[in-house]
Amino acid sequence: MSEALKGYKGAALSILEKFGVSVWDNCEIQTTRGEFRGLILPRSETDNDRYLVLKLASGYNVGVEVETVTDMKAGDRKEAHYKIPEKEFPVSPNKPNVKLLGTGGTIASRLDYRTGAVIPAFSPGELYGAVPELADICNLTTEKLFAVFSENMGPEQYKKLAVRIGEEIEKGIDGIVIGHGTDTMHHTASALAFMVQNSPVPIVLVGSQRSSDRPSSDAALNLIHATKTASESDIAEVVVCMFGPTSDEYGLLHRGTRVRKMHSSYRSTFRTVGDIPIAMVSRDKITPLKDDYNKRRTDRKVDILPYFEERVAMVYYYPNMHPDMIDSLVQNGYRGIVIAGTGLGHINKPVYPAIVRAVAAGVAIYMTVQTLWGYVHMFVYDTGRDLMAKGIIPTENMLPEVAYIKLAWALGQTDDLAKVKEMMLTPICGEITEREPHNGYLILQGGIPEVEEFLRTIHK
Ligand code: ASP
Repeated sequence: MSEALKGYKGAALSILEKFGVSVWDNCEIQTTRGEFRGLILPRSETDNDRYLVLKLASGYNVGVEVETVTDMKAGDRKEAHYKIPEKEFPVSPNKPNVKLLGTGGTIASRLDYRTGAVIPAFSPGELYGAVPELADICNLTTEKLFAVFSENMGPEQYKKLAVRIGEEIEKGIDGIVIGHGTDTMHHTASALAFMVQNSPVPIVLVGSQRSSDRPSSDAALNLIHATKTASESDIAEVVVCMFGPTSDEYGLLHRGTRVRKMHSSYRSTFRTVGDIPIAMVSRDKITPLKDDYNKRRTDRKVDILPYFEERVAMVYYYPNMHPDMIDSLVQNGYRGIVIAGTGLGHINKPVYPAIVRAVAAGVAIYMTVQTLWGYVHMFVYDTGRDLMAKGIIPTENMLPEVAYIKLAWALGQTDDLAKVKEMMLTPICGEITEREPHNGYLILQGGIPEVEEFLRTIHK
């Protein structure tokens, strides 16, 4: 196939040939659904032949259905060269040593992944070429563990990561950065918080919401903040480091068991839920917002507990859920179920008999809340008391995803449900807290400057 029509085949290739348009041409496309203008991007060889992929001026990529195209006109060509110059990463004996473990995600992509033209930039030389500031912070070595988008992360990857982290700590590393897709970063963060306990150094997960070919990419700044945290901070915990406010003023460090992706496209998508973030991080300083975190140590002790029972499910309750949702999990051999219930932790009455059957079959069932903020309170209504009598165990203010990961981790270690209950309800790394701070819900979340700005502009 001609280089100029890279990745296109079948109907998509024919239409490009028919109108004499090639990849990297800026073009105008007339379709039965209106007109589109943008740059024709390459596609992956494995993609279907029904779409042309166009990068719009906004930076977003769209798929234009071949069947709808009536005319195309090529304008100027704008071939993108995403080759990052490889430079030797300078090593200085006075700088901390940081390991970057890559798992994939947008942060590892040079070009938007939807085109299929994904090339991970993860060698130290490439990273240094792309983000030279990193060399001012630390001596960085990198290792590509996986190259997946984060929906494909799971128990196998969590365990492998935990074991690699343990090895690096024993060898003497000063901090660890994990490059990860943002979508399920909070699952991996909590899995690592349970699997890597008592770490003497920071373990920092970082990603980016916008790929590095976009002007608004958050990849470089997030990486700078994350390596600074891994190098210098005294927070020896699993944290997520991502954009704080919508501007690029600072990043926030969120505890691995209290963090959640809350927006599908904002760069400031991660929020600490049920608490305030541990610290703010900028290019020049790390400002703690809390002091109850595990402090950095110089010893090399760490407990690696890579366990995970795969037959655990999370069920997001919705009105009119039928009991067979629970029955089918039991019939399929599931050993644990975390329910995200309504309000203080409720599900509807018709499901109750299924809960009784599941508990009788030895399935561990735990309740969390869909509201995310606040505690499960099953004593308030008689329905809650009823559910507890039937064997559902409330999990205080553990987030649903965290309860799911913790239950899988606990059931991976024992069949004894009393022991599992003890593990579930004993906080290990902030997944259950005694109270939620009054200032956590709306402020100290990268919100105040924006709220002030909003008030200034709206209420002039
Ligand atoms: N879908 C991507 C992922 O989670 C998005 C990202 O990297 O931010 O892998």
